[in-house]
Amino acid sequence: MKKHKLVVRLFSLYILLTAAAILLIVVFASQAVERFYFSQKIEDMRVRSILVEQTLLQSGAAGSASLQQRSTDLGSTTYTRITIIDMAGQVLADSQEDPATMDLHNDRPEFIKAVSSGEGHDERWSYTLEQDYLYYARLSKLGTRQVVVRVSLPTLDLHTALQSIKMQISFIAVLVILLIAALNWYVSRIITRPIQVMETGARRFARGKFKSKLPESDIFELGSLARSLNHMADQIYDRIRVVTQQKNEQIAILTSMTEGVLALDANGRLLAVNRSAALMFGLKPIQAKGRPIHEIIRHVGLNDFVTAVFEHKKRQECRITVFQPEERILNVIGSRMPSKKGASGGAVIVLTDLTRIQKLEGVRREFVANVSHELKTPITAIQGYVETLQDGAMQDPKHAKRFLEIIAKHSDRLGQIVDDLLELSRIEELSMGDEDANFENIMISDLMAATIQNCQVAADLKTIKIHQEVEWDGQVLVNPKLMAHALGNLLDNAIKYSEAASQIVIRCRSEKKRGIIEIIDRGPGIEAEQLPRIFERFYRIDKGRSRDVGGTGLGLAIVKYIVRIHGGEVDVQSTPGEGSVFRITFSA
Ligand code: ADP
Repeated sequence: MKKHKLVVRLFSLYILLTAAAILLIVVFASQAVERFYFSQKIEDMRVRSILVEQTLLQSGAAGSASLQQRSTDLGSTTYTRITIIDMAGQVLADSQEDPATMDLHNDRPEFIKAVSSGEGHDERWSYTLEQDYLYYARLSKLGTRQVVVRVSLPTLDLHTALQSIKMQISFIAVLVILLIAALNWYVSRIITRPIQVMETGARRFARGKFKSKLPESDIFELGSLARSLNHMADQIYDRIRVVTQQKNEQIAILTSMTEGVLALDANGRLLAVNRSAALMFGLKPIQAKGRPIHEIIRHVGLNDFVTAVFEHKKRQECRITVFQPEERILNVIGSRMPSKKGASGGAVIVLTDLTRIQKLEGVRREFVANVSHELKTPITAIQGYVETLQDGAMQDPKHAKRFLEIIAKHSDRLGQIVDDLLELSRIEELSMGDEDANFENIMISDLMAATIQNCQVAADLKTIKIHQEVEWDGQVLVNPKLMAHALGNLLDNAIKYSEAASQIVIRCRSEKKRGIIEIIDRGPGIEAEQLPRIFERFYRIDKGRSRDVGGTGLGLAIVKYIVRIHGGEVDVQSTPGEGSVFRITFSA
């Protein structure tokens, strides 16, 4: 429907009513004036007819010739056409025409009325004089003779005069209408302006600007409406604030949750999804919202689970594995939301990512198995040789000495493994950030010198030469003891796995403002496929060789954790048969 402005509607209504009223007044006034004018005219003609009768009687013009003469005289002095008609309708005299040429007038309406009721009048076209005439006829007595005296006037002047009066009335009416229109417009504006102000204010409220209040009009009803709207705006503002706060709290809780949350409506359509759940299933929350869960997550296990949640009132729980966007093991708990009156409730699905826990559990199991396995070999050897000694070998001093040496070697190894394990767990704890790592600034060349000093004996035993190359020197922020331990492990490996009398280079340099220490050996090198694994705990390429050189398989794992504590990186480049380069890059 087309909408009009209130001011336009009020104005047009007023103006329409006013114009109709004035038009009615104009019509009635014109008619009244016309009626009055005619009645005045007829009254005037009646008087004229009486005067004509009187004059004719006094002059004694009863003969037709003198009657004609008198009529003509009277007619010309009074500017009136005078006709004397006998009772049969025969024209006896006429002031403007020759009666001999005139027809019988017994059919003229004014004549008939005059004969029957004493007087009559009529307005019509005169064929004799060829214009509109107003006729008045009256029954009269000229002496003893009964006649009808008829006076007639042309109506042209009459109509012209009336037309002019009507024009004046119309002109005044138009003027009045224009005046009233201006007044109407002004009044309409006065009435509608406060409403417009309120409408603008209400629009502001709709845009959420509740602080700018509506002005209170001095019109009682509008003032009261403004007060009510202002009060309503205050209440809406308060409610929106509470709802927004609640929503923000909800979003903050849902976003910070590591558990994934999916909220579904009664038809299984997604109402809300938090960031964790979106990550778990690779969803785009904005696109996913409002769509059925089975459309956005194509996982048979989860879809069956959702169906079960909707079918049962009790809380449901299961474990599923998803493969997209990455493999995850999820624990899923689902329960129905309490339904409101009449409406059936939806469901909430909470997903806990068990992947890391399961992985850690696997690592822990593997670690325990590895430790047991590592400890088992020396323990079995010790047990075996002790039993052999108990069974009589003690009596053979030559064998007994050799067996005791073997037992001592294995117990040393046991001690070495336990020491390394303790060291590893201490460093692991440090890497978790539970303990203060005691960092200090130290020159990188000093760190290198200390490392060489610690390993010099082992190198000398194999007549290995260690070359020190300082391409760049500067301070690095480290825990000196720990970093010396890590570098010691690397240099120790280089010595252990290199041939006797070979060379090792230990070099310090910088790259992209980061200090680097490289330990370069000409040992056996490492196959490319082994490289990613050598930093794992207990991983050794050649177990026998490692054991022979006194390795526990924990050395590089310890290096990895120490470097991680320092925020640095450790990596290796190696060519089998040529040697390896182990590199520690310090944090900037
Ligand atoms: P281990 O105590 O056996 O030396 P590490 O963790 O220190 O254990 O090293 C893991 C494995 O990496 C070693 O068993 C060895 O096979 C290989 N490795 C380490 N350093 C070198 C090196 N400089 N040259 C060749 N192989 C090495």
